[in-house]
Amino acid sequence: LSFENFKLNKQLMEAVKEAGYTKPTPIQEKAIPLALAGHDVLGIAQTGTGKTAAYVLPLLFKIKYAQGQHPRALILAPTRELCMQIEEAVIQFGKYTDLRYVCLYGGIGPKTQIEKLQAGVDIIISTPGRFLDLYKKGKIYVRDLKTMVMDEADKMLDMGFMPQIRGILEVIPNKRQNLLFSATFGSRVENLSAEFLEFPERVEV
Ligand code: AMP
Repeated sequence: LSFENFKLNKQLMEAVKEAGYTKPTPIQEKAIPLALAGHDVLGIAQTGTGKTAAYVLPLLFKIKYAQGQHPRALILAPTRELCMQIEEAVIQFGKYTDLRYVCLYGGIGPKTQIEKLQAGVDIIISTPGRFLDLYKKGKIYVRDLKTMVMDEADKMLDMGFMPQIRGILEVIPNKRQNLLFSATFGSRVENLSAEFLEFPERVEV
């Protein structure tokens, strides 16, 4: 199987080529077609498996067709470091698109983040706490969100982010696609997916 099989567009294929990816990894092979088909996906995959591109590529492809001026995709991750790595992937694969993004995390003042939100973004990458803070301050318009990714869900739960995740899921639209990635599949991740994913396709590597 090659990346050609996914029928992504020229802009994405060019960026994939420039990233030096010649062949999809097993998680990409399994998750990308399911995500492109609109399924909720529960991916059990560790760091190093290529899980980031497994959700970033379908997200970038599908967002073009998602109506709305406001943010249409939200990627939640447990730490600032992971958010920044995800942002790098969005920059890399989105380089031939005109999609705008912002990376939100705590530990610094929100001013620059708020300015970027106000200038307009298509994709938000955020830690749960900072997203909810800025939402409560009225700085994030959530009604156009169509895709929600939770990366390293097990780590988010370990770090005690369940209340914030629940708070976020209460305010974003119900009709959306969910992609949940976790290195482990314990009872808490199972409960999270049972609560928030709709008929998820489970993929494991
Ligand atoms: P991740 O598991 O998403 O953190 O990715 C781990 C590393 O593998 C990153 O440096 C990616 O750029 C790289 N990678 C992901 N998918 C591929 C692929 N299909 N071919 C080559 N490298 C890849």
